[in-house]
Amino acid sequence: MTEPSERFDLFVIGAGSGGVRAARFAANLGARVAVAESHLFGGTCVHAGCVPKKLLVYGAEYAETIADARAFGWDVSVQGHSWTALRDAKDAETARLGVAYRKLLDDAGVAVFEGRAKLESPTSVRIGDRTIRADKILIATGSRAQRLNVPGGELGITSDEAFHLRELPRSIAILGAGYIALEFAGIFRGLGVDVRVVHRGDVVLRAFDPDVRDHVRGELTKRGIVFELGRAARAIERTGEGFVVRTDGGDFVTDQVMHCVGRQANTGTLGLDAAGVTLREDGSIPVDADYRSSVPSVLAVGDVIGHIQLTPVALAEATYVARSLFAPSKPAPVDYRFVPTAVFSQPTVATVGLAEHDARKAHDVQIFRTTFRPMRNTVTGRDERTLMKLVVDRATDKVLGVHVVGPDAAEMIQGFAVALTCGATKAQVDATIGLHPSAAEELVTMRTAVG
Ligand code: FAD
Repeated sequence: MTEPSERFDLFVIGAGSGGVRAARFAANLGARVAVAESHLFGGTCVHAGCVPKKLLVYGAEYAETIADARAFGWDVSVQGHSWTALRDAKDAETARLGVAYRKLLDDAGVAVFEGRAKLESPTSVRIGDRTIRADKILIATGSRAQRLNVPGGELGITSDEAFHLRELPRSIAILGAGYIALEFAGIFRGLGVDVRVVHRGDVVLRAFDPDVRDHVRGELTKRGIVFELGRAARAIERTGEGFVVRTDGGDFVTDQVMHCVGRQANTGTLGLDAAGVTLREDGSIPVDADYRSSVPSVLAVGDVIGHIQLTPVALAEATYVARSLFAPSKPAPVDYRFVPTAVFSQPTVATVGLAEHDARKAHDVQIFRTTFRPMRNTVTGRDERTLMKLVVDRATDKVLGVHVVGPDAAEMIQGFAVALTCGATKAQVDATIGLHPSAAEELVTMRTAVG
């Protein structure tokens, strides 16, 4: 802990993905840095997002792996699954990571304040009864899960609570059809829960390529997930045994309800008005190209700026801020054009670049598409197909988007993100030698345009 009178070059509020990165890099560049964390070091990604989610996905995927093992000659029998064992193993790993994140800060010489911080002025922060001054303040407070704004909307769970359930429900209604909804639908289904996804819109994964949306919905339906699209939940009521969900297409009873209806920037209690920082209507902080808010000494990165809400994006923005403030030369701006992203539903969706409908707004495009049965399913007989799609600019031959739905999709797309960042053309993709036998080789052997 520092003396109250001490002044810092940079005070970071929030020790999640963005905050830890900015604090650490700024300290390594010689700045005097402090960080405040009100909850857990490592933030959402480590404790309520990417990491615990992926561990639960791994856990759920064993259901299919074990079932398929028989086709390959394994004499396996399953006695059941222990949710508590999976949950506790996941908790042990996230706790270990939390300690590691705290140590990163200590090792970099960052002063750490455990508590909720709020701005008192453009250059001072309040934590408990202490006021700390800093030339620059970085808001990296992330976002939180929203609930449906209907009668009874306070009932049920969000992703935060889903990670810590005492026991699994027999059935769950997931409200929303974005990436977190589909990931948890897959997790619960894999662990034997009856899952229905209820969404007022007509499609799942609204921002994704239309072929991707249709394909993944079809695959999830084959796994027993029920989709009720175009159906808005109007009210939630608790009953003796669970919940009644009232929708505009009728009512149903379920053991558990999970809200997956978006996330809201954590700015409500930060005192940003006292510092004169302008907010958008949804609470997020608008920033300029250097991540400065309307008040130049107050900067913001990560989920709280309401742009692309992914950990690697928060890391890139935080790196830029640390370097732009404290490195001798100005860094290159963050390149948002080819941010790869995955939905760890089962099967996985992974994508980089433009969806077909977005590409068509500005380009004359050619579409290359294939669907096929993954090799392992030729033995298991599992009714599952992989989708691959390339969106190519006809004029320049540049690849604008790559989309995959199938096993290992995320592992394939990272490499294509490099290629697209380098400006890869379809001719260069065609000239690339395939890796055989793999599913990924299909991405370099799509010769005939289908649209
Ligand atoms: P956070 O990591 O949320 O950190 C903010 C920190 O600020 C928190 O620790 C919070 O306690 C602290 N804080 C808030 N207010 C105060 C205050 N007043 N004083 C002090 N501290 C405060 N992204 C991916 O890239 N891949 C994925 O697979 C993925 N899966 C996800 C799954 C789920 C279920 C969720 C919810 C998110 C997922 N994300 C994923 C998104 C990713 O977690 C976020 O984009 C990322 O964590 C944002 O980092 P951040 O630094 O902006 O905020």
